[in-house]
Amino acid sequence: MAENFDLDVAVVGAGFGGVAMLYQLRERGLRARAFEAGSGVGGTWFWNRYPGARCDIESLEYSYQFSDELQQEWEWSERYATQPEILSYVEHVVERFGLGGDIQLNTRVTAAHYDEATRGWRIETERDGDHETTTARFCVMATGCLSSANEPDFPGKETFSGPVYHTGRWPHEGVDFTGKRVAVIGTGSSGIQSIPLIAEQARHLTVFQRTPNYSIPAYNGPLDPEHVREVKSDYESFRAYNAQQPFGAGFPPNEVLAAEVDETERERVYEERWKVGGLGFITAFGDLIDDEASNATAAEFVRNKIRAIVTDPETAEKLMPKTLIGCKRLCVDTDYYATYNRDNVSLVSVLEEPIETFTPTGIVAGGVEHPVDCIVLATGFDAMTGAVSRIDIRGRDGLPLGEKWSAGPRTYLGIGSEGFPNLFLVTGPGSPSVLSNMVPSIEQHARWISDCIAHLRERKVDTIEVEREAEDAWVEHVNEVAAPTVYPSCNSWYLGANVPGKPRVFMPYIGFPTYVEKCDEVARNGYEGFELR
Ligand code: FAD
Ligand code: NAP
Repeated sequence: MAENFDLDVAVVGAGFGGVAMLYQLRERGLRARAFEAGSGVGGTWFWNRYPGARCDIESLEYSYQFSDELQQEWEWSERYATQPEILSYVEHVVERFGLGGDIQLNTRVTAAHYDEATRGWRIETERDGDHETTTARFCVMATGCLSSANEPDFPGKETFSGPVYHTGRWPHEGVDFTGKRVAVIGTGSSGIQSIPLIAEQARHLTVFQRTPNYSIPAYNGPLDPEHVREVKSDYESFRAYNAQQPFGAGFPPNEVLAAEVDETERERVYEERWKVGGLGFITAFGDLIDDEASNATAAEFVRNKIRAIVTDPETAEKLMPKTLIGCKRLCVDTDYYATYNRDNVSLVSVLEEPIETFTPTGIVAGGVEHPVDCIVLATGFDAMTGAVSRIDIRGRDGLPLGEKWSAGPRTYLGIGSEGFPNLFLVTGPGSPSVLSNMVPSIEQHARWISDCIAHLRERKVDTIEVEREAEDAWVEHVNEVAAPTVYPSCNSWYLGANVPGKPRVFMPYIGFPTYVEKCDEVARNGYEGFELR
């Protein structure tokens, strides 16, 4: 199929997404190569090596399902797998299926331009200072929703004399905090996972918190061999069941509404969920995501837990989130709140005492200097659009993607964007992506995109492009679905609110599992909403 192109398909990124793409494309006999900026595969799990990094979707679910032999043979050791274990899993997949030869590491894609004459893409890459151009009929952005580190411009940052680490760019050799005074800025999932472990090592830890977060205990531990045997005896049904749940994960659903039951019953159910732990807390009742009053009962339950765990009432008060629960992504922790009972841990609420400047020896907040030897930025990511916006992507008539998305991303199904023929996004904005168990969502996109490209090849179709009307209707639908829920109610990265100047638009699509049916229907109807030329 490659005609005069170097490749049928250029894939950008070699995390779960890029690897799934390569596998699926190769299954359909397509020539593909993935370009990866990092020196290894794994994406998120290659970059985020901070202490305590692990997934909060259960290991038996956070894995590929394209090969039954793979899912039968791979042994996960814990309920929630650690970063090293997930990284070795991705490395194993690459090796097992012989995909390594099609992955070009240490290679950053700097530009991707659509060429009207060839009806394909020119991909510009940089490796060790060398520039190269590759041409491909199709280009797939598997660049990740959470891969572009957000490093706020704190005044005086360059004057600080010690090391500054970002959780999403953690040194491979690890960091020894023994005897050090450490600052952690940020209390999202990365901060909440790393703070208890850093506190165990450091001489003193000062946590700088902007917005307090809700966190549910992980109760992590070794996987029960009996449970593993049971799942593996019929993995297909286990996957099929999870695929029908609202987040594509096996959180036990509850159709009962919190609004329909009395306080005693609500407390009983919340307590039950708290004891199980994990993200399934949010499905304790069927209306926590779209009924504010019901949501408030779950929020108050967690605040009461914080009151009970944290011994200093002033610190407990600072740690209590005031937002609705789940409007920011829920966190899952091991001993997070209890860490504030340690003598060597202090909490600074930067809402009350804003960070004014870094100095050579510390951080000044609210007029007080906190002396520290090193700083950990757990400040998150320019989510969902950050990685693609760092590539100079130009579509038909040289239209820059950044210009088209200047008021927020516009896609059809989160898979393609009008004006950008033959360009696909894996878990792009407008798809369930970060509101789902991401590995199955990634695989769904990888299969759909590969099927689509194979379909075009069979019919000798040169280009596929989203139609304007389909895109407009989809963007409106994504917004309509989000509006009555709790999601848009607070300053989250779902809305781009964590990055100064970013347009405030709710980016993921709340539509699992019907979204998958919609994608299948679009394909069945000859790629309805796309123009094939
Ligand atoms: P990534 O893993 O981000 O991979 C994208 C790759 O593209 C990166 O390696 C990057 O280097 C590369 N890239 C980007 N731009 C370029 C470029 N211009 N040129 C070349 N290469 C480029 N999801 C869950 O469902 N459950 C979890 O428990 C969970 N835990 C998480 C924990 C952390 C710490 C983080 C940060 C995210 C977590 N996620 C979780 C989300 C996670 O990102 C996805 O589950 C999944 O790993 C994404 O895979 P991906 O391949 O789409 O993106
Ligand atoms: P995050 O959720 O965006 O948290 C970043 C934190 O930094 C927030 O507390 C934020 O405060 C704070 N912050 C940002 N800019 C700041 C500034 N200028 N001054 C002070 N504080 C600032 O990022 P994350 O923790 O890396 O997590 C991102 C996502 O990755 C998660 O939501 C999740 O999807 C995934 N993840 C999952 C796990 C897991 O358990 N599996 C672990 C890590 C990450 P505000 O809230 O006020 O913006």
